Amino acid sequence: MMKKTIQQLTSSDRVLLASHANPDGDAIGALLAMGLALEKLGCEVVLYNESAIPAVYRFLPSVTSIREQLAELKYFDTAVILDCGDLSRVGSMADAIKAIPAIVNIDHHITNTRFGQYQLVDVNACATAEIVYRLIRAMDIEIDTDMATAIYTGILTDTGSFRFSNTNQAAFAICETMVAAGVKPSQVAQHVYGTYSLGRIKLLNLALDSIEISHNGKLSIMTVTREMLADTGTQAEDADGLINYARRIQDVKMAALIHELENGNGKPADRKRFHVSLRSDGSVDVSRIAMGFGGGGHAGAAGFSVESSLLELKQTIFNLSDGFSETCQLN
Ligand code: AMP
Ligand code: MN
Ligand code: MN
Repeated sequence: MMKKTIQQLTSSDRVLLASHANPDGDAIGALLAMGLALEKLGCEVVLYNESAIPAVYRFLPSVTSIREQLAELKYFDTAVILDCGDLSRVGSMADAIKAIPAIVNIDHHITNTRFGQYQLVDVNACATAEIVYRLIRAMDIEIDTDMATAIYTGILTDTGSFRFSNTNQAAFAICETMVAAGVKPSQVAQHVYGTYSLGRIKLLNLALDSIEISHNGKLSIMTVTREMLADTGTQAEDADGLINYARRIQDVKMAALIHELENGNGKPADRKRFHVSLRSDGSVDVSRIAMGFGGGGHAGAAGFSVESSLLELKQTIFNLSDGFSETCQLN
């Protein structure tokens, strides 16, 4: 599949590259690295993400080339979709993008639906940036410092700084090569983890205070409401990573972060839309749980969106903890 994908890319003149809405470091890093590589091949590229780029990733080289809007889609011969388990993850433009004649699916989610004629899906890859690295190498394109910084950031953030269960040998090997190509780890870390607004720190305080634990101690729920964001002058992106505090509590097997979005359409009036992030200690496959709610992800980190009242949603999530067994272990 790698060969065919390279043939398709090298014979394309105009390529659209897109990654999932509300992007993380991997969605942005893989997008930028792939875009820079295809530009080196002489392709005309357009980089697209529906959401604003979080402040912590705005230091990335050529990040300003990522567009939030798309006009003419007839123009493209190929679309490269990055870090999306399903094409719908790119957001409201998904249906229009589907009409582009060739779709390349580059992803590492276990729930990947295998969309697109060209698929570079490796569920063992630590990040989509790992697959992008391999593709760039296979295309014989030299990795400059800008591309290296994008790849490094994708791997660093998706592995939780080499701590999560997806941390593999390639994570270290590629990052070593990226450092040799000019990446400064301390500078990347300073941007991504070391420069938070005061509001973000205050939000951390409210989020920690919201933590609730199930009766058996195996499940924790953290809640971030729109009111908390308003009170601290923060945005949704400032909740990124907060769930790890709920996850690291002793005996907790699964943590859920309930993120309040907009008001729901249905009745009663207390129904709202929520995004729920799930994290596991390694003993619960949260991708399965997320799939049960129409979402997806990895065994250790997954998510879904629902419309519900907050109380009902918490009850539904707490009920899951009854099913957690002591014995099942993921690798
Ligand atoms: P998050 O919910 O943002 O913490 O995401 C955790 C992991 O699950 C990431 O790899 C996401 O790409 C994936 N994910 C989150 N929400 C969804 C969804 N609605 N459908 C499929 N995958 C998702
Ligand atoms: Mn992602
Ligand atoms: Mn990823």
